[in-house]
Amino acid sequence: MPEHVVIIGSGPAGWAAAIYASRANLHPLVFEGAETEENRVAGTLPLGQLNLTTEVENYPGFPSGHLHDYIRTAVVKDRVETYLEPLHEHPHAVTGPELMNLMRQQAVNFGTKIVTDDVVSVDLSKQPYKLKTLGGEQHEALTIIIATGARANYLGLPSEERYKNRGVSACAVCDGALPRFRNKPLVVVGGGDSAVEEATYLTKYASSVHMLMRRDVFRASKIMQDRAKSNGKIKLHYFREVDQVLGDDKAGVTGVRVKNNQQGGTEDLPASGLFLAIGHTPNTSFLNGQLELNDKGYIKYTTLMRTFTSKEGVYAAGDVADDYYRQAITSAGTGCMAALDAERYLASKGL
Ligand code: NDP
Repeated sequence: MPEHVVIIGSGPAGWAAAIYASRANLHPLVFEGAETEENRVAGTLPLGQLNLTTEVENYPGFPSGHLHDYIRTAVVKDRVETYLEPLHEHPHAVTGPELMNLMRQQAVNFGTKIVTDDVVSVDLSKQPYKLKTLGGEQHEALTIIIATGARANYLGLPSEERYKNRGVSACAVCDGALPRFRNKPLVVVGGGDSAVEEATYLTKYASSVHMLMRRDVFRASKIMQDRAKSNGKIKLHYFREVDQVLGDDKAGVTGVRVKNNQQGGTEDLPASGLFLAIGHTPNTSFLNGQLELNDKGYIKYTTLMRTFTSKEGVYAAGDVADDYYRQAITSAGTGCMAALDAERYLASKGL
């Protein structure tokens, strides 16, 4: 029997869709992704990008406070122990991993089925649609909600590739506490909210953090810009790009050769790490061209204010179809919309 609703992805969009679809008695099946080393390096592990962040200050309903007791009673014990940081003594905003485990738990409570594996290919040529997992399982689905999100971009330099995992990273929260980065200067590339967030986080460990921006303006919100400018450990460098990552086989990254894109010339900054925060790429390769994408590669919505894609019964939610808002709350919102769209489609077909 084909599944009524399959949801691919386990960020806020995926769990919001699962909560709505399970409460509609559609018994959704979520593929939450595989816990592989490849996914770790690419930043595509289960629970999505929020699981790689620290505190989430702007998700409605979670003002800063003593959230510890609530979270520990809401999430099943074994996941608290395996996936969540120990007690924060001080009042704090909900963390990304806490928020994602709460969402997952809420979906589980309503009967969502979960497979901890990647969907590696789909066949959308006819209904029921077919899906194949990394582990070789085959599934069929009457409707599919694609909520696979986006992953961090890299610059594409050969020297960057050489030192990935040896000083080059796109996730300060995942890697920042490693011994190699402690009390050493670090470099962050980018001028958006992510770059400020990463640089601020890294100041906990680094002796100083150089932020390289290719223009002389931030893309980050005003509050985040002020945070970077007022942090004595962060040094801002405008009109600067990475020319080459410097290092050797033994030490990994030892510095960054930086070019001035206004006046020419390069300068070598000593650093034990390079962190990229230069935007994202949607996770759509498993679709193999079967859905229409926009010119930036994000899934195209075919109808205004609906989560419809170019295939009937296939919906998109969250960052995989959003190159503009990209917030946890907007992702959760489109996840809810996709589940309602799937429910109404199934009802219209009498399924
Ligand atoms: P953004 O697209 O906002 O910013 C990307 C930054 O990287 C820009 O400064 C851009 O420069 C720079 N950049 C892009 N490509 C290159 C390149 N090849 N070389 C050098 N620099 C490059 O991405 P973010 O990931 O920062 O943010 C994505 C979304 O997530 C945003 O909507 C943001 O608001 C949100 N977010 C919110 C947070 C919060 O606290 N609320 C935290 C983190 C993210 P340029 O401007 O010149 O193009």
